[in-house]
Amino acid sequence: MKFIDEVTISIGSGKGGAGCVSFRREAQIPRGGPDGGDGGNGGDVIVKGDPRLHSLLDLRFKKKYRAEDGEPGESQMASGRAGKNLVLALPPGTIITDANDGRVLHDVKEGDEFVFLKGGLGGKGNVFYKSSVNQAPGIAQKGMPGKDTEIHLELKLLADVGIMGLPNAGKSTLISRLSSAKPKIADYPFTTLVPNLGVVRFGEDLSFVIADIPGLIAGAHEGAGLGTQFLRHIERCRLLVHLIDIAPMNAQDPLEAYQEIRHELEMYDKNKSGEEGFSPLGNRPELVVLNKIDATDETTIRKTRDAFKKKGIATLEISAAAGKNIKQLTDTLGKQVFSEKQ
Ligand code: GDP
Ligand code: MG
Repeated sequence: MKFIDEVTISIGSGKGGAGCVSFRREAQIPRGGPDGGDGGNGGDVIVKGDPRLHSLLDLRFKKKYRAEDGEPGESQMASGRAGKNLVLALPPGTIITDANDGRVLHDVKEGDEFVFLKGGLGGKGNVFYKSSVNQAPGIAQKGMPGKDTEIHLELKLLADVGIMGLPNAGKSTLISRLSSAKPKIADYPFTTLVPNLGVVRFGEDLSFVIADIPGLIAGAHEGAGLGTQFLRHIERCRLLVHLIDIAPMNAQDPLEAYQEIRHELEMYDKNKSGEEGFSPLGNRPELVVLNKIDATDETTIRKTRDAFKKKGIATLEISAAAGKNIKQLTDTLGKQVFSEKQ
């Protein structure tokens, strides 16, 4: 399943600082020579492949990125300070293309760190122009301009966390509650059911991708309800959330709902066992989440939790709609995703 996160930004390297025209003026030296220093170089735009990043989320909020300009040179041969580089940290796998002509400029790899746009050189101060024939040059060089360009960034995402559960469990509601951005879903082959997808922010600068598996119903492993196509896609998820309606309209016992989906996973695994590279879904780390606690009472919540506990299953109780215990859920998921990744 291809999820695509994309963003277009403009970037620019810094302009070089101007060289300085200046002459020594000191009490004891009547005719001082030139002493104008060079301008500082403009900052570069550095592209860096940072494996801690998993989405382009952080680039969504600002469209223009620019390195600092160099400072002009000064008298007494003082060079101007160089402009600070702009470090553009990108998740590995990001394809950088020229936003104007679509040319692919770079495919970001982990460990990349290179100058993408060079800053303008600082101008030479008038000291530089001093020669036997010109002892007092009155000229200096201007700084060279920086380079500006517009780039398009595109990243194929894989879901880190898959949310499964029966229809109406609240999967879509939960994703919209958890996520701070919605990447687009590319080339999706099915028209009727489209997975929901979101990028979840975790802590200051981390994020992970969450997707639901719609259409999972009893018989899914045999192709009912398009479930298998979706099951195929969670093969790539590191972690599964099993979402269960604690107060279903049809009064189905939550434990039974849980077992219904587990059965589908097991049957699916059985059908696929022996296929090369297949790692069973049944063994995937799973977090059982009871949803819609706002729609029931304390006693029911406790009883349901205990019923799961008796089977050796720990649960987290939330309300996706009312936003209860959402932070705990994000933290639990984020910790697991990132401990798995190390
Ligand atoms: P999905 O089929 O699993 O994607 O479920 P949806 O997210 O579409 O939700 C199904 C229904 O349950 C919708 O009417 C939601 O408004 C409702 N719902 C979802 N989460 C909650 C919740 O925490 N509390 C209550 N009371 N209703 C919820
Ligand atoms: Mg849904």
